Amino acid sequence: MALVNEHYLKLPGSYLFAEVARRADQFKRDNPAADVISLGIGDVTRPLPPAVIAAMKKAVQEMGRPETFRGYGPYQGYEFLIEKIIENDFKPRGVELAVDEVFISDGAKSDTANFQEIFGVNNILAVSDPVYPVYVDSNVMAGRTGTVNDRGQFEKIVYLPCTEENGMKPPLPPARVDLIYLCFPNNPTGMTISREEMKAWVDYARENKAVILFDAAYEAFIREDEAPHSIFEIEGAREVAVEFRSFSKTAGFTGTRCAYTIVPKEVKAFDGSGRAHSLNPLWLRRQATKFNGVSYPVQAGAAAVFTDEGKKQVRATIDYYLENARIIREGLEGAGYKVFGGVNAPYIWLKTPGAMKSWDFFDQLMREAHVVGTPGAGFGAHGEGYFRLTAFATRENTEKAIERIKAGM
Ligand code: PLP
Repeated sequence: MALVNEHYLKLPGSYLFAEVARRADQFKRDNPAADVISLGIGDVTRPLPPAVIAAMKKAVQEMGRPETFRGYGPYQGYEFLIEKIIENDFKPRGVELAVDEVFISDGAKSDTANFQEIFGVNNILAVSDPVYPVYVDSNVMAGRTGTVNDRGQFEKIVYLPCTEENGMKPPLPPARVDLIYLCFPNNPTGMTISREEMKAWVDYARENKAVILFDAAYEAFIREDEAPHSIFEIEGAREVAVEFRSFSKTAGFTGTRCAYTIVPKEVKAFDGSGRAHSLNPLWLRRQATKFNGVSYPVQAGAAAVFTDEGKKQVRATIDYYLENARIIREGLEGAGYKVFGGVNAPYIWLKTPGAMKSWDFFDQLMREAHVVGTPGAGFGAHGEGYFRLTAFATRENTEKAIERIKAGM
């Protein structure tokens, strides 16, 4: 008799975005004439930069000739891409990395979900609340939690509430934890933290021999100087942090798939007898066993992001989304909403009017303005009463959506 992994049975039935899509589809079927605009799921609308397309085409041609054909690539990714990442994303910020500390992958989603595999099942983890659901669900699947309560919170996870009072910034854990998931710029709140605030996290991790799993998928959206782009800009972070990055939102790779994870050699976890083990070789061992790399044309395309042309084109795309974010933020503020984020991030986190429940606001916004967003409650108990809009739509649809919200809600 085949036995199921019962930890999967602890997970709530439907993934947040599946439920959002289900309700939106139902509304469209019931109202076929309605022009429904989605500011819901965090998927991009701008195409891949021309520099990336040219590099991918060239790489595909190479794959078609015996003298330039490539089969399996290196487990950690091609050095031509890793070197460009180090040169462009880290060196200018004073962060030195070795080539074997960068792991190319097919997504920050898979890496943030998979990385927990190399930690023991008895680690206590902390997440901010609201939170990107992947961190929690992957740990539930691994058996690192108890069951879920009626507020959607799992036993054995320490939730760090992000509230208006603390400026949507997670407080340090009230009790000792071992693994800490942080994400800045944050999905869903769109907020960042300062260097001093990030240093407090690094100090906490060093004092408690904890590891910080730092998701910087939205790093390219940072425009204000106070917000660090990488946790490794903070002294001591190499001993306690792993960082996840992605080309998805930066360069339009959501459908193309390329990301990377930084695992410094100094970052360690401990065995039962207290002996320290570097995470870098363990992650390499995990990847070498379960992952066979990102395709050569995709890595060649990602490397083109770092050419002069590629940088200009990517910058223009991000500027486009940040202008959408400004239109949403200022439009909502003008209409009397309290909003967070949308300055260094493509997400705007708004407080629902009259303390309306998130899903009620979702239904009302869809019914009256024909705009789809994401209910804050789907990101955690402290997301109740909040709502997320994304800046990834076209300019035309963003402007139309905000005009409708200003006129009708
Ligand atoms: N991390 C965060 C915080 C995200 O919001 C997302 C995507 O929405 C991801 C990771 C996934 O990125 P990728 O497309 O590289 O898997």
